Amino acid sequence: MRVVGEIPQTQIWYSICETGRSLKYFKDSKVQNLIREATEVRSFAYCPYSNFQVGAAVLCTDGTVYKGCNVENNSFTVGVCAERAAYVKAISEGKRNFSAVAVVAFQEDSFTTPCGACRQFMSEFGDIKVYIAKPTQKDVLVTSISELLPYMFTTKDNSFK
Ligand SMILES: [Zn+2]
Repeated sequence: MRVVGEIPQTQIWYSICETGRSLKYFKDSKVQNLIREATEVRSFAYCPYSNFQVGAAVLCTDGTVYKGCNVENNSFTVGVCAERAAYVKAISEGKRNFSAVAVVAFQEDSFTTPCGACRQFMSEFGDIKVYIAKPTQKDVLVTSISELLPYMFTTKDNSFK
């Protein structure tokens, strides 16, 4: 067996953490707005089991924004994350091309990055910038789908044919 490469997890984590910026850093008002929209929609989260509110907003290339919050269920596994809620809303309105997504949740000492399922789900629709913020919007982690999910599952080489 030959080792062809390793994912430098530690390097990836540190490199993206260094790019944390305050909201004021973003001169692009679309990015500022996206983070604000994700923060606002977070208040609609239905999370009676975890009490962990998450908001997400996805920016389409045509400038429209779709928002989503986490929706939990008594049967835990059928709950939906905020990121997937936002994407499903956009896609079901005919949108397929995205340019950025913002995710907002609160943890005192760390950023709340998308779960593995959401990383895979979002990767289907392109490698875009991901802005991860806290509700205070004092610090924003700037990353991308490919940084969050290196070696993502894909059959884009038509291996299903
Ligand atoms: Zn998720």
